[in-house]
Amino acid sequence: MAVFFFAPLIRVKGWEYLIACRLFESHPPDLKGYITMFFEKIKKHIDNASAVSFDVFDTLLLRPYAKPIDVFYHIENQTGEFGFATERIAAEMRTREKNPGREDINFDEIYDEIDDKFKHLKQTEIDWELQVLNQNPEMKRVWDYAKSKNKKIIIASDMYLPVNVIKKALIKNEFADYDYLYVSGELAKTKHFGTMYEHIISDINLKSSKILHIGDNYHSDYKRAKKLGIKAVHYEQILQQFQKHNPRAKKLLDTSRIPSDIGTGIILSVSAWRWKKNVWEL
Ligand SMILES: [Mg+2]
Repeated sequence: MAVFFFAPLIRVKGWEYLIACRLFESHPPDLKGYITMFFEKIKKHIDNASAVSFDVFDTLLLRPYAKPIDVFYHIENQTGEFGFATERIAAEMRTREKNPGREDINFDEIYDEIDDKFKHLKQTEIDWELQVLNQNPEMKRVWDYAKSKNKKIIIASDMYLPVNVIKKALIKNEFADYDYLYVSGELAKTKHFGTMYEHIISDINLKSSKILHIGDNYHSDYKRAKKLGIKAVHYEQILQQFQKHNPRAKKLLDTSRIPSDIGTGIILSVSAWRWKKNVWEL
């Protein structure tokens, strides 16, 4: 469990833990109605579709951070490998610049590019991702509903991580029984440019209007999908939902800072998951 993994950090930042305990308690009374409406709306879309496609990061699976790059700063903090985060981010950027014709790059290429002194952290990063990724309980409900209606399940991710790592994370978090899996780092086609959707439509041989796609990126998951005739639902990230509904949570974390305050980001993310889970169980 993530909470045990982060326990030392929570102990050090005792005041944040206390605030988080208060945050758990509060949610506006209309929230149950709001999420019921969301679920009812998604159910209707699923009923009308033959296949349901899910984004992975920040949709099916959640990292306990305010921003994706915070994972690198957390690894640096915990391993004492000073400079890792900055170099890991820069190495990814350099790899993209060296491959201007390619829509996406992959994990091996990033670690070929990274400074020699950080190459040994390749497996650490993979292990870290597998340890911190958690199931989104809200999306698990949507997934289970789609499965109960015998819809084909598609996973579509714009991600540099190896396919086998994404598969492991999905299995670990009870999203194992999908029909198709597409990952941009391997396919070199992306949702961002729309080419992954074109590939999916021809690969599974379905009309685009019979596919429903759900994801958190407004451009890649919503606008690009819709442009190709796919039904799309934009899913707002849980931490953003939490901060919208909880002014105290919003005040605690300035997401424009780089890096974010890792400790506060973790506490608020875990609080947001628990808040969402509690609301569903009301
Ligand atoms: Mg995403």
